[in-house]
Amino acid sequence: MKKNLVLLGPPGAGKGTLAQRLASEHGLLHLSTGDVLRDEVARATALGQRAKDYMDRGELVPDELILSMVKERVEGRSGILFDGFPRTLAQAEGLEKIAPIDAVIFLEVDKDTAVKRLSARRICPKCGAVYNLVTQPPKEDERCDRCGTKLIQRDDDKPEVIARRFEVYMRQSAPLARYYEEKGLLIRIDAGRSPEEVYAAALRALRDDRP
Ligand SMILES: [Zn+2]
Repeated sequence: MKKNLVLLGPPGAGKGTLAQRLASEHGLLHLSTGDVLRDEVARATALGQRAKDYMDRGELVPDELILSMVKERVEGRSGILFDGFPRTLAQAEGLEKIAPIDAVIFLEVDKDTAVKRLSARRICPKCGAVYNLVTQPPKEDERCDRCGTKLIQRDDDKPEVIARRFEVYMRQSAPLARYYEEKGLLIRIDAGRSPEEVYAAALRALRDDRP
Protein backbone atom coordinates (compact mmCIF):
# COMPACT_ATOMS: atom_id res chain seq x y z
CA MET A 1 0.00 0.00 0.00
CA LYS A 2 1.83 3.08 -1.22
CA LYS A 3 -0.76 5.52 -0.05
CA ASN A 4 -0.47 8.54 2.15
CA LEU A 5 -3.05 8.24 4.87
CA VAL A 6 -4.25 10.44 7.69
CA LEU A 7 -5.78 8.94 10.79
CA LEU A 8 -8.20 11.09 12.77
CA GLY A 9 -10.20 10.19 15.84
CA PRO A 10 -10.89 11.35 19.37
CA PRO A 11 -9.09 9.92 22.38
CA GLY A 12 -10.45 6.45 23.06
CA ALA A 13 -11.18 5.64 19.42
CA GLY A 14 -8.23 3.26 19.21
CA LYS A 15 -6.19 5.37 16.84
CA GLY A 16 -2.83 4.19 18.15
CA THR A 17 -3.74 0.52 17.87
CA LEU A 18 -5.00 0.84 14.31
CA ALA A 19 -2.03 2.97 13.29
CA GLN A 20 0.50 0.45 14.54
CA ARG A 21 -1.18 -2.44 12.81
CA LEU A 22 -1.69 -0.64 9.49
CA ALA A 23 1.90 0.54 9.54
CA SER A 24 3.49 -2.78 10.41
CA GLU A 25 1.38 -4.94 8.09
CA HIS A 26 1.52 -2.63 5.10
CA GLY A 27 4.98 -1.19 5.37
CA LEU A 28 3.80 2.35 6.00
CA LEU A 29 5.95 4.92 7.71
CA HIS A 30 4.06 5.71 10.91
CA LEU A 31 4.47 9.36 11.70
CA SER A 32 3.07 10.72 14.92
CA THR A 33 3.89 14.39 15.36
CA GLY A 34 4.13 13.88 19.11
CA ASP A 35 6.99 11.42 18.54
CA VAL A 36 8.58 13.63 15.89
CA LEU A 37 8.53 16.62 18.24
CA ARG A 38 9.96 14.67 21.16
CA ASP A 39 12.69 13.27 18.92
CA GLU A 40 13.71 16.66 17.51
CA VAL A 41 13.79 18.14 21.00
CA ALA A 42 15.78 15.19 22.38
CA ARG A 43 18.34 15.40 19.56
CA ALA A 44 18.48 19.18 20.04
CA THR A 45 18.21 19.89 16.33
CA ALA A 46 17.73 23.50 15.21
CA LEU A 47 14.00 22.86 14.72
CA GLY A 48 13.85 21.01 18.04
CA GLN A 49 15.41 23.94 19.89
CA ARG A 50 12.92 26.36 18.39
CA ALA A 51 10.03 24.06 19.29
CA LYS A 52 11.33 23.71 22.83
CA ASP A 53 11.32 27.47 23.30
CA TYR A 54 7.58 27.49 22.64
CA MET A 55 6.94 24.46 24.80
CA ASP A 56 8.95 25.89 27.70
CA ARG A 57 6.77 28.98 27.56
CA GLY A 58 3.69 26.76 27.59
CA GLU A 59 2.77 27.83 24.07
CA LEU A 60 1.67 25.77 21.10
CA VAL A 61 4.38 24.94 18.60
CA PRO A 62 3.46 26.95 15.46
CA ASP A 63 2.10 25.13 12.39
CA GLU A 64 4.97 26.28 10.24
CA LEU A 65 7.52 24.67 12.57
CA ILE A 66 5.62 21.38 12.76
CA LEU A 67 5.35 21.36 8.97
CA SER A 68 9.10 21.85 8.61
CA MET A 69 9.75 18.83 10.83
CA VAL A 70 7.28 16.71 8.91
CA LYS A 71 8.69 17.85 5.59
CA GLU A 72 12.19 16.82 6.58
CA ARG A 73 11.02 13.29 7.22
CA VAL A 74 8.63 12.64 4.38
CA GLU A 75 9.92 14.57 1.41
CA GLY A 76 10.18 12.32 -1.63
CA ARG A 77 8.57 9.35 0.12
CA SER A 78 5.16 7.77 -0.16
CA GLY A 79 3.30 5.30 1.99
CA ILE A 80 3.09 7.48 5.08
CA LEU A 81 0.58 7.12 7.86
CA PHE A 82 0.01 10.42 9.63
CA ASP A 83 -1.21 9.91 13.17
CA GLY A 84 -2.41 12.90 15.18
CA PHE A 85 -1.52 15.21 12.34
CA PRO A 86 -2.70 17.48 10.81
CA ARG A 87 -4.48 19.16 13.70
CA THR A 88 -5.43 22.41 12.06
CA LEU A 89 -6.64 23.52 8.64
CA ALA A 90 -3.36 25.39 8.13
CA GLN A 91 -1.45 22.17 8.76
CA ALA A 92 -3.72 20.25 6.38
CA GLU A 93 -3.16 22.79 3.64
CA GLY A 94 0.56 22.79 4.26
CA LEU A 95 0.64 19.00 4.19
CA GLU A 96 -0.88 18.95 0.70
CA LYS A 97 2.29 20.55 -0.62
CA ILE A 98 4.56 18.10 1.20
CA ALA A 99 2.75 14.78 0.85
CA PRO A 100 -0.59 14.71 -1.00
CA ILE A 101 -3.10 12.64 0.98
CA ASP A 102 -4.95 9.71 -0.64
CA ALA A 103 -7.41 8.91 2.12
CA VAL A 104 -8.38 10.06 5.59
CA ILE A 105 -9.79 7.64 8.11
CA PHE A 106 -11.95 9.15 10.82
CA LEU A 107 -12.52 6.75 13.69
CA GLU A 108 -15.91 7.47 15.18
CA VAL A 109 -16.77 6.50 18.71
CA ASP A 110 -19.30 7.88 21.16
CA LYS A 111 -18.18 9.71 24.26
CA ASP A 112 -19.41 7.09 26.74
CA THR A 113 -17.46 4.33 25.01
CA ALA A 114 -14.32 6.46 24.84
CA VAL A 115 -14.56 7.33 28.53
CA LYS A 116 -15.16 3.70 29.47
CA ARG A 117 -12.15 2.52 27.47
CA LEU A 118 -9.68 5.12 28.64
CA SER A 119 -10.66 5.24 32.28
CA ALA A 120 -9.75 1.54 32.45
CA ARG A 121 -6.16 2.41 31.60
CA ARG A 122 -3.54 1.88 34.28
CA ILE A 123 0.16 2.48 34.20
CA CYS A 124 3.07 1.26 36.23
CA PRO A 125 4.63 4.26 37.99
CA LYS A 126 7.97 2.44 38.14
CA CYS A 127 8.63 0.97 34.68
CA GLY A 128 5.97 2.77 32.61
CA ALA A 129 4.16 -0.38 31.37
CA VAL A 130 0.61 0.36 30.21
CA TYR A 131 -2.41 -1.85 30.97
CA ASN A 132 -6.14 -1.73 30.44
CA LEU A 133 -8.27 -3.38 33.09
CA VAL A 134 -10.79 -4.41 30.41
CA THR A 135 -8.79 -5.26 27.31
CA GLN A 136 -5.32 -5.91 28.65
CA PRO A 137 -5.40 -6.58 32.39
CA PRO A 138 -2.31 -7.48 34.41
CA LYS A 139 -2.05 -11.09 35.58
CA GLU A 140 -2.23 -10.16 39.20
CA ASP A 141 -4.80 -7.72 40.53
CA GLU A 142 -3.67 -4.20 39.55
CA ARG A 143 0.02 -5.05 39.83
CA CYS A 144 2.63 -4.72 37.11
CA ASP A 145 3.48 -7.99 35.33
CA ARG A 146 7.06 -6.87 34.85
CA CYS A 147 8.01 -5.43 38.21
CA GLY A 148 5.13 -6.10 40.61
CA THR A 149 4.52 -2.43 41.39
CA LYS A 150 0.96 -1.33 42.23
CA LEU A 151 -0.56 0.22 39.11
CA ILE A 152 -1.93 3.74 39.13
CA GLN A 153 -4.39 5.76 37.08
CA ARG A 154 -2.94 8.89 35.53
CA ASP A 155 -4.87 12.10 36.22
CA ASP A 156 -5.30 12.35 32.44
CA ASP A 157 -7.26 9.10 32.48
CA LYS A 158 -9.89 10.21 35.01
CA PRO A 159 -13.38 10.11 33.44
CA GLU A 160 -14.09 13.85 33.66
CA VAL A 161 -10.72 14.70 32.11
CA ILE A 162 -11.25 12.21 29.28
CA ALA A 163 -14.74 13.57 28.59
CA ARG A 164 -13.32 17.07 28.32
CA ARG A 165 -10.47 16.00 26.00
CA PHE A 166 -13.01 14.16 23.86
CA GLU A 167 -15.20 17.24 23.50
CA VAL A 168 -12.25 19.48 22.71
CA TYR A 169 -11.02 17.05 20.06
CA MET A 170 -14.41 16.78 18.38
CA ARG A 171 -14.78 20.54 18.30
CA GLN A 172 -11.29 21.15 16.94
CA SER A 173 -11.34 18.37 14.37
CA ALA A 174 -14.73 19.27 12.86
CA PRO A 175 -13.30 21.79 10.33
CA LEU A 176 -10.60 19.28 9.41
CA ALA A 177 -13.12 16.51 8.80
CA ARG A 178 -15.17 18.91 6.68
CA TYR A 179 -12.08 19.91 4.69
CA TYR A 180 -11.29 16.30 3.80
CA GLU A 181 -14.94 15.44 3.24
CA GLU A 182 -15.20 18.19 0.63
CA LYS A 183 -12.16 16.74 -1.11
CA GLY A 184 -13.90 13.35 -1.15
CA LEU A 185 -11.17 11.77 0.96
CA LEU A 186 -12.91 11.16 4.27
CA ILE A 187 -13.74 7.60 5.31
CA ARG A 188 -15.78 7.32 8.48
CA ILE A 189 -15.35 4.10 10.41
CA ASP A 190 -17.37 2.95 13.39
CA ALA A 191 -14.69 2.47 16.04
CA GLY A 192 -17.07 1.33 18.76
CA ARG A 193 -16.24 -2.25 17.77
CA SER A 194 -13.30 -4.51 18.57
CA PRO A 195 -9.83 -3.56 17.26
CA GLU A 196 -10.04 -6.59 14.93
CA GLU A 197 -13.30 -5.41 13.35
CA VAL A 198 -12.07 -1.83 13.07
CA TYR A 199 -8.93 -3.00 11.29
CA ALA A 200 -10.94 -5.14 8.85
CA ALA A 201 -13.31 -2.26 8.14
CA ALA A 202 -10.40 0.11 7.50
CA LEU A 203 -8.81 -2.33 5.05
CA ARG A 204 -12.07 -2.83 3.20
CA ALA A 205 -12.61 0.91 2.93
CA LEU A 206 -9.09 1.53 1.68
CA ARG A 207 -9.37 -1.23 -0.88
CA ASP A 208 -12.72 0.06 -2.19
CA ASP A 209 -11.22 3.50 -2.37
CA ARG A 210 -10.17 4.95 -5.73
CA PRO A 211 -6.73 3.75 -6.82
ZN1 LIG B 1 6.30 -2.08 36.23
